[in-house]
Amino acid sequence: MAEQHFDCIIVGGGPAGLGAALYAARDRMKTIILEKFYPGGQIITTDRIENYPGFAEISGPDLTEKMMAQAAAFGAELRTGSEVTELRRRDDGMIEVACGKDLFVSKVVILTPGSSYRHLGVPGEEEFRNAGTGVSYCGTCDAPFFKGKTVVAVGGGNTAIEDTLHLSKFAAKVIMVHRRKEFRATKVLVEELMAKVHAPDSNLSLMLDSTLTSIEGSGKVQKAVVKNVKTGQTNDVACDGVFIFVGMVPNTAFLNGFVDLTEAGFIRCEPAYLRTRVPGVFAAGDCRVGAAMQLVTAVADGVNAAMCMKHYLRDPKWWDEPLADAI
Ligand SMILES: Cc1cc2nc3c(=O)[nH]c(=O)nc-3n(C[C@H](O)[C@H](O)[C@H](O)COP(=O)(O)OP(=O)(O)OC[C@H]3O[C@@H](n4cnc5c(N)ncnc54)[C@H](O)[C@@H]3O)c2cc1C
Repeated sequence: MAEQHFDCIIVGGGPAGLGAALYAARDRMKTIILEKFYPGGQIITTDRIENYPGFAEISGPDLTEKMMAQAAAFGAELRTGSEVTELRRRDDGMIEVACGKDLFVSKVVILTPGSSYRHLGVPGEEEFRNAGTGVSYCGTCDAPFFKGKTVVAVGGGNTAIEDTLHLSKFAAKVIMVHRRKEFRATKVLVEELMAKVHAPDSNLSLMLDSTLTSIEGSGKVQKAVVKNVKTGQTNDVACDGVFIFVGMVPNTAFLNGFVDLTEAGFIRCEPAYLRTRVPGVFAAGDCRVGAAMQLVTAVADGVNAAMCMKHYLRDPKWWDEPLADAI
């Protein structure tokens, strides 16, 4: 296996990876992005982004193309169809990144493999998976597209409650479906939810002890079928959209003990400089613990890692230094 040497290797070509690549390449570092499929990550499937500063509205593919072209103009190299399967730190401090038949070597690696929304796997979910046709996984991203409409929100954790409350500011009617009677979310959020549900003229209602069994419609979502798990009874709920808030799955299985992961699989890193347990290896974007799961924060994370990498390259001892007032 021939070794290919770079100043900076980025694993994943989503927004975090592209942000990191722009800064690294513009700093005259020989930079490569290794991307399993094609660049863009999660945003590649969305046709309308309204919360990326500088663009009132842009599609995921258009933004990806602009971000990739900008990084490439400074010399960043992109390898698509390149899945990283293993990483190893050598005794000389260099990091080996295995990708098919290739072995890439660098002092610095920025891990940006992202996360995927957990799916319910119910009929209709795939068919309508797009805010335009009615199935979404992100209230912060897509709530404004459902202004004045009726939506079903599924889930019972913190994000589910936060995003459902956010949805209720836009939609005319929100029906929250939760498989248990009690919520696992933090007390303060549950109290806020209940206050909203019981408020006069509330547009938010609950279907507890219930699961979503299918999403139906013609060309776009028209109804959700909800089953009460206690009685077995099913109900058709007429709606324009279904928001599924049942968690995120980080794409970190391939790291397999190389860096520390949380129980849920997010990469543990210290929050200011994004340093992992392994010197020279940073984590950025939706793959890391505490990520805000937004496009702009993923890009910012990538940039932060690329900036911090310079401190490590200047002095590897920086890795073990505690957070400083100024760097
Ligand atoms: C449909 C949809 C709409 C969205 N809309 C918005 C929105 O309007 N506004 C907003 O702020 N956010 C939105 N988001 C969320 C936003 O897209 C994410 O927060 C952001 O993409 C995270 O960027 P990332 O680079 O950390 O990870 P990702 O976007 O997940 O990218 C990770 C990349 O790494 C690659 N990869 C994974 N494993 C490997 C490996 N082993 N080897 C090589 N490559 C690998 C993946 O193929 C992927 O390309 C949306 C998400 C979705 C799914």
